[in-house]
This record gives sequence, structure tokens and C-alpha cells, in this order.
Amino acid sequence: MTDSTRQAQAEDPAADLTRPPAPAISVVIPLYNEEESIPHLYEALTQALRDYGKSYEIIIVDDGSRDRSFELLRELAEKDPALKVIRLRRNFGQTAAFSAGFDYALGEVIITMDADLQNDPRDIPLLMAKIEEGYDIVSGWRKNRQDRFWDRKLPSMIANRLISNVTDVRLHDYGCSLKAYRRDLLQHVRLYGELHRFIPALASQVGGTVAEVPVNHHARQFGKSKYGLSRAVRVALDLITVWFLGGYATRPIHVFGSIGLVLGGFGFLIGLYLSYVKLFLGQNIGGRPMLLLAVLLVVIGVQLITMGLLGELIIRTYHESQNKPIYFVREVVSQDSYH
Ligand code: UDP
Ligand code: MG
Repeated sequence: MTDSTRQAQAEDPAADLTRPPAPAISVVIPLYNEEESIPHLYEALTQALRDYGKSYEIIIVDDGSRDRSFELLRELAEKDPALKVIRLRRNFGQTAAFSAGFDYALGEVIITMDADLQNDPRDIPLLMAKIEEGYDIVSGWRKNRQDRFWDRKLPSMIANRLISNVTDVRLHDYGCSLKAYRRDLLQHVRLYGELHRFIPALASQVGGTVAEVPVNHHARQFGKSKYGLSRAVRVALDLITVWFLGGYATRPIHVFGSIGLVLGGFGFLIGLYLSYVKLFLGQNIGGRPMLLLAVLLVVIGVQLITMGLLGELIIRTYHESQNKPIYFVREVVSQDSYH
């Protein structure tokens, strides 16, 4: 089934009377090697959703786990019609897994969270209350974040500052996975790289309103975090991408080009000065550090301008190739025969 037919059916459940009506809430959870967490997650989440009382589906995206995660999930999904398991062909990363979950979700509201029990499913009603107030996106704020400082909280603090400067959405905690979205809004947001933490910013660009609510956060009980410091670097680079592609900055040629022009211009002026010293004053300039500086500046300037040009080219290519999927599905375990 294509996305558009899936979407059409989701919007109009009466289009096919054998199909159960779309749930109010779809909880989307990317999961990679979390076998120990699965039973606890399933139980806590199901309990919280039942207590809340609205119709729901749980979509767990197995992002190429190598442990017994998928077997455990399959067993659960075979017993519970509310649980759907999307198994990806390999590990595509959390953002791609989110994206897969969004494509399969039918609920009017999508709630995202982590599989490792660091988010608390009992916070779902808090998010839903804000959605009911009329917001399109509600982001959790881990006020008491239970993670190590130097490789988790510190990079996040820096990232939060940068993201809030670069985008026009002001949040305290962009990286919190516990969020709620109106599904129709997400259909206009394309994800790749590490972009899931930018969804509120991307969604606000298509007109979504954003709210933030403080949520609980627990230390990881089982297994290890799947990320190291390298993620901080990737996030920083993605920030630059969002800045460009999101229209938050002028075009790359303007950014790189103007830095290049300034640096190159300086180099050129120093070169002029040195030429004057050599030609009119007759002094030898061969040994002057300034000469090195002039050459360096001109070379860097030219490089930056060229990078700006390449950036333009890549952006154009990117816009033209946007239909490439960022994940591939191996199998879907669901009692809903439409999946
Ligand atoms: N995850 C995933 N694919 C990956 C890495 C992580 O689906 O390649 C999932 C992981 O199972 C968890 C969530 O993304 O549900 C967040 O990962 P993790 O807890 O390792 O990150 P942290 O909380 O340390 O930021
Ligand atoms: Mg975690």
C-alpha cells in the first residue's frame, strides 16, 4: 500500500468498512537492541494508555536489532492487536526509525518516546492536555535529566542553545524523545540524518504551534546507550543543514561566499601592501610572515567561495532527490491486514 492510500484510508476510515477506525493516539517507539526493556516497556505503556482511556495503537520500529528484541516483539504483537511491529532491514538510526513509524501510524496524534524506559508513559496525559488546548506539537522537557553530565547533558546544553539561536522555536530541551504531534503536520516534514530533534523546528515552519511541558526522566535500567560523543558532532553538522535548508540562513553561497570574500579580500590587501613594499620601497619581502598570511587568506577565501558554490549545487540536488526513502522495511507484524 502506498503512503497516499494509507493516508486516504486514515483520513476516511469509512472508505473501507472492514477496517477498524483509526485510533486517537499512535505511540511510535524506535528500538534497537533493547531486549531487557521490552517487557517492562510494553507493560508500563499499555497500562498508562489504558488508564488514559483513548483508543490507541503502539508502533514499535525495530531498527535492525541484533539481540532477541524482534522475537520478543513478535510474540507480543501476535497477542495484542494494538501493537504493530515494523522491522527494518538493518540499523538505519533513530531518525529513520521514527520516520518509518510515522509512515505507518494512523492515529490523529502521534506520541514518540524511547524504548529504554527513560521516558515515563504516565506523562502521556500531560502531552495530550496541551494538544487538546490546541497546540500542534508538544515537546517534553527533561527538567531532572538522569544522564551523565560530560557526554550527555553538556553536549545537549550546547546543542539546545545553538538550536534555539538558529531556529525560531524556543525550547529548553530539543533532544527529549517524548513528544506529541498532530499527525497531519508530520506529513509535511521530511526527516534524515539526526534530524528528529529538529522536528518541532521543521514543523513550525509549516505552520505548527509548539508547546513544552516538564516530564519525568529516569536513568537507563537495562542495556547501554546506543550513542557516543560522535552523535554530538553529527547533531552539530545537522544544525548547519537545518540552518541552510530550513531557510533560517541565507543561501550557502551567501554565507560561505561572504566569509570567503572577506578573508580573501584581506589577503589581497596584504598582498597589495607587500607588492608596494617590494616594488616601490625596494625591500625584500621573501622572509616576512605576512606573505604567508596573505597567501593563506587568499587560498582559504577561494576555497570558501567554492564551497558555497558546491553547497548550492548539493542543495539543488537534494531538493530534486527528496523522494529517496531513508529506511527499508523487512517485515511488519500486525493483526491489521492492511499493513
Ligand atoms: N535507537 C534506535 N536506533 C539506533 C539507536 C537508538 O532505534 O540506531 C533507539 C533506542 O533503542 C532507544 C532510543 O532510540 O529507544 C534512544 O536511544 P538511546 O537510549 O541509546 O539514546 P540516549 O537516551 O542515550 O540519548
Ligand atoms: Mg536513552
